[in-house]
Parts: sequence; C-alpha cells; structure tokens
Amino acid sequence: MSTKRQHSAGPPFEGGCACGKVRYRMTAEPMFVHCCHCTRCQRETGGPFAHHAMIEFSRFEVTLGEPAFVLVPTDSGGKHWVARCPACRTAMWNEHGTRQAVTRYVRVGTLDAPAALPPRAHIFVRSKQPWVVVPDDAPSFRGYYDAAKTWPAESLARYAAAKALRAEEAEAERLAKPKTAAKKPTPTGRGSKSGRPRAK
Ligand SMILES: [Zn+2]
Ligand SMILES: [Zn+2]
Repeated sequence: MSTKRQHSAGPPFEGGCACGKVRYRMTAEPMFVHCCHCTRCQRETGGPFAHHAMIEFSRFEVTLGEPAFVLVPTDSGGKHWVARCPACRTAMWNEHGTRQAVTRYVRVGTLDAPAALPPRAHIFVRSKQPWVVVPDDAPSFRGYYDAAKTWPAESLARYAAAKALRAEEAEAERLAKPKTAAKKPTPTGRGSKSGRPRAK
C-alpha cells in the first residue's frame, strides 16, 4: 500500500503513516505552521527541527485505522501524547496536555503534499543546528513566541472558538455523567467524545 505524494494547493490536506494503515485529514488551512528548533523536538524527531502545522481538533479527522497514543514527557515537566501508527510506528501528530486538547500538532512531513505548508515562523532558534539557515523572510524567535502577537487574527479567533467548543463538551459530559453511563465507552476508557471519528 503506497501513499502517493500529491500536489494540492489548499485544504483538505491528507496525510498518514509510512505503511498506510493510519490516515488523517486536515479539513482546513492550519491555524499556524512553525518549525521548532528546541532540543526536545530535535530528540523526538531525530532531525534538526520539528515542522508542525497546528490545527484545531474540530478540523482534524482520522480517516483510516486507529492511532496508538504514546505519552512523552516534556522539558517543562508536562506531557504530550504522540499519535503513532500501531503497525509501523510513524509519529503523525502530537496532542499537548490531555487527549482532549484543542490543538493537533501535525508533523508536516507526514502529509502527502508537505510542500503545501511551509513554516511561517521559526522558534527556539537559539538551539538550532548551526548549519540550518533560517530564511530572511520567516520571522524567527530565540525561544518561544507569543501566539497572540504572531498568529493571524483569524487563527486566534478559530482557536478561541475551538476552545469554547471543548469547554461546552466538557460541561455536557459533566451534566450527563450522574444520570447515564458514558455514551460510548472504549476499551481504554480514553476515547474521545467527538472530533475523533472512528475508522471508516
Ligand atoms: Zn503505519
Ligand atoms: Zn520544540
């Protein structure tokens, strides 16, 4: 089963793992795309930087298979989940904090047409590999950036809307819990309520 590299100018953006058992789709342009040159991203990817497209959960779908989530510690003492193919173990995206996180950090190299999403900023360039030359036209930051100042207003609005949607879901779940059992228990008990379509 081969994953064809295709050229597409706009959304949806399709991607998947190396063996083709897990496929996903971004149904809109990402909110932002950056390259992170921090030492943790270098270790996790085994490359010079991580190239992440950030998209809200409501515009991200698993279209084939079921990823396996691996918990990875972060430098700040937090954690994030890395979605991997259970067969070939390709890492396709990260979910920070909890599995009900608002944002998917999609690893752009797993898209069928990764050239469609060049980075709009480079962060943690203080630890970039010395031979990596950041283009002049891409804003770069020595450490992290302030999304409120760097992301387009439209993206900030999308993030706020997705965050509100998550809060509504949590509230609905809280209200539903005492009366009835969870809607659809999963084997792990950690499956999601929405925004995470099952394999079709
Ligand atoms: Zn695979
Ligand atoms: Zn990083």
